[in-house]
Order: sequence, then structure tokens, then C-alpha cells
Amino acid sequence: MLAPNNLSGKLKELGVVGAGGAGFPTYVKANSKVEYMLANGAECEPLLHKDFELMKRFPEETVSGMRLMMASTGARQGKFGIKEKNTEAIRAIEPHAKAGGIEMVLLGDFYPSGDEYELVYTATGRLIPAGGIPLQIGCVVNNVETLYNVHFAEQGIPVTQKFLSIAGAVHHPKSFWVPVGTPFRDVVRLAGGAVDSDFGIFVSGIMMGTLCFDLDEVVTKTTGGLIVLPKNHYLITRKNQPQENMNRIGKSACDQCSYCTEFCPRYLLGYEVQPHKVMRSLGFTSTGAEHWNQWSELCCACGLCTLYACPEDLYPKEACDQGKRDMRSAGIKFVQQKPVRVHPMKEYRRVPLSMLRKRLKVEEYEAETPFENIGFTPEQVRLKLSQHAGSPAAPVVRQGDRVSRNDPVARVGKDELGVNIHASISGEITSVTDKYIEIRG
Ligand code: SF4
Ligand code: SF4
Repeated sequence: MLAPNNLSGKLKELGVVGAGGAGFPTYVKANSKVEYMLANGAECEPLLHKDFELMKRFPEETVSGMRLMMASTGARQGKFGIKEKNTEAIRAIEPHAKAGGIEMVLLGDFYPSGDEYELVYTATGRLIPAGGIPLQIGCVVNNVETLYNVHFAEQGIPVTQKFLSIAGAVHHPKSFWVPVGTPFRDVVRLAGGAVDSDFGIFVSGIMMGTLCFDLDEVVTKTTGGLIVLPKNHYLITRKNQPQENMNRIGKSACDQCSYCTEFCPRYLLGYEVQPHKVMRSLGFTSTGAEHWNQWSELCCACGLCTLYACPEDLYPKEACDQGKRDMRSAGIKFVQQKPVRVHPMKEYRRVPLSMLRKRLKVEEYEAETPFENIGFTPEQVRLKLSQHAGSPAAPVVRQGDRVSRNDPVARVGKDELGVNIHASISGEITSVTDKYIEIRG
């Protein structure tokens, strides 16, 4: 095994990626030079509380990861973003943060206060250039679980476990660690099973996650949690529509009221995102594809326009998704011409989580997801080779090999963007494909 001699090398070798959703390799961030290091503990997806539990239970490790990242990047200031309502997590983190000269940034209970653009603005007053990244204004943002993983990688321990919440229509909502590659079937069972026999699972959140019905699907390094809902729940019916239906309904029913734009957090921050204009393009052609326009390019897919703002229950977020996809494949890149300027109404149009839960019809499922140290080992794990941004990892094991937990099983080339993947349980390699590696314990 390569013996990394700096934090960045260790993070690549030991598989640390953004645990908050995007899976961007953390070694790239550790290798940059910035002024501010930001910890993102905002966690604003309704019903998910795993970051809250992690900060409460593992504050020392989390802050240690932050200090390591500050030292690696030369950041002169650390800021820890956390919701004001999460007093237990604040009480746990604050003493460690203060000792390390890290400032607490207390956030309101709004959606999406954890959006990177939003958090950077709240914490530093700086606006990321349109279509840009925090690095361009001297900032790096890391999810709190990523920082926890940085702490252990520095000690030579790879990422093989994932912290997640399981919430919604299960008997015992809770948070725990499971090996990466654990099937959803096991995760649901660990929460006492689903309340209804027919259910769907929102993976990593209702607002920005994906809807899944496959219990053989597995946990990856970026799975934030599972939200189980009965199959006849409003959100499942809403999300489980073919794209043609979404387009057809949008074409006939959008009255251009522009509420979707007026509530859009990116628009309110000053970026040229206007979902109602993207919806307008649906009216021109059968699919809208020929006329997708620039107004979708800077959308962060937060889902607020579709799931909260639109009074007609239409799909402006999904129209933006298509617009971005089509423009990308046509090689069109939108460049914002106007300077980014915060909308004067921004502060008055914030969406409280309580209102959002009501609109989503999930109030009855809001519950604590207390941490439980379950020490679970599944019979089998399936490790996806592409569970991070960049190039997929290439297997370095063959069917029939025996591996121990923490052994590297797939690697990414030295100059490729990506990180290595490690065995999350000990056992025999039962399958190696170009998509995944399976290990039976
Ligand atoms: S809020 Fe709905 S109806 Fe109004 S413009 Fe947007 S998509 Fe159309
Ligand atoms: S999903 Fe909708 S509300 Fe969210 S950034 Fe995109 S356009 Fe704006």
C-alpha cells in the first residue's frame, strides 16, 4: 500500500469523499489554499437528523477533522454552520470548536440553509460567482461526516462505514453506522421494518434525493439516509411520474404565475435562475427540448419550486433538470451577464421547515432518530465502483479472493479524479463487474 505523507494523499488513498451527497473527493479540497474552512452541519432535508446525531455523539472527531483541513489548506478562519434549534449538538461541538479558534455560525430552521451557496453567504457574506465554486472566493465547505472521516483517515483508517438515519413509516426511526454496501433491505429491517407492506424509499432525502423501490439497492459513501413512505403517499405519487406526464401537465397547466421563481433560493441570492421561464419553454413544442433556455443552468435542484412553491403541483425542478441535461449535451454553457446581487425580498421569502413538512404531508413522520451503536455486519455487501465524483475505481481483486475489512479492493489512478474503495466487511469476493464488487462475509 502507498504510504501517503500528507493529509491530501491519505484522503485519496483512504477513500474520503463528501458524505453530504455530491461525493466530491475531499483530497482536492485539502490540497487547496483558502481563507475560510466551513463545516456544514445544517442538515435541512425534512425528517433526516443524522448530522445532528453525529455532531452530538462525535464532536471531538468532527472538530478534529476540521482542524486538520484548516491546517492543510492554510485557512485562517474556521466557521461551523449549525442550526440554532439543535442545541444539544451546539453544546457538544462548541467547546471543541472554541478551543480550536473556530467560530459557530447559527442558522435558522429554513430550507435550504445547508445549500453551499447559501451557507457561504451566511457565514462569510461572500457570494460565489455564478456557476462557480466556493474556492473562487477563498472558501471550502465540508459536511460534518466528511470531517469525521478526515479525522480517521489521518490515523490511517479508510472509509468503510456510513452513518445514516432511517425515518418515515418504519417502526423505530433511528441513526446508526452500517458498512458501505449494505442492502437497503437490512437497513429497513434494522429500524424494525416498514409500517406498510407496500412502500417506497426516498434515498438521501425527499427534496434532493431519489425515489427507490428496490430493497437490493445498497448504501454508498454518500447515502444520507432512507425515508420510508407508504406507496400511496402523496410524495410517491408525485415523484413517480414519467417525464412525459410531467411535461404534458406542465405544458397545459402552467399559468406562468412565477411563484416557482419567486421562491427559488438561487434566484433570491441573485443568480439568473428562473424556473417559470423554463416552464414557458414547454409551451412552445411537444417536449420543450428545442427551446430549453438558459434559465435552468444555475439551478441547484433543491426541489423547492416543485414541492413547495408551485400551486398547481407542476414540475419546474424536473424541467430545469432536463434543461440542464439538454444544454450540456448540446455543448451550450450559460454565462451570467449581470452581477450577482441579493434580492431585497430574500429574507422574507425563507421557507421554514415546519411549513415545508406540512406542504409535503409528512408532519406525522417527524420524529427523533436517536443514535444506536448496533455494530451490524451484513451477510453480503455490494461496493459500487462509482460512488464519488470523477473516474470510477478499478478493481484490484478477483472473484474467489479473500479480503479483510479495510483492505483496498478498487483503486483510482494517481492522476485521475477519484478515491480508492475498501472492503467494508471481511470475507470472500463473490463477484467483480465493471460496476461493483460483492463480498460475502
Ligand atoms: S409556480 Fe407552477 S404554475 Fe406558476 S409558473 Fe411556476 S410552474 Fe407555472
Ligand atoms: S430546484 Fe427550483 S427552486 Fe431549487 S434552485 Fe432549481 S429552480 Fe430554484
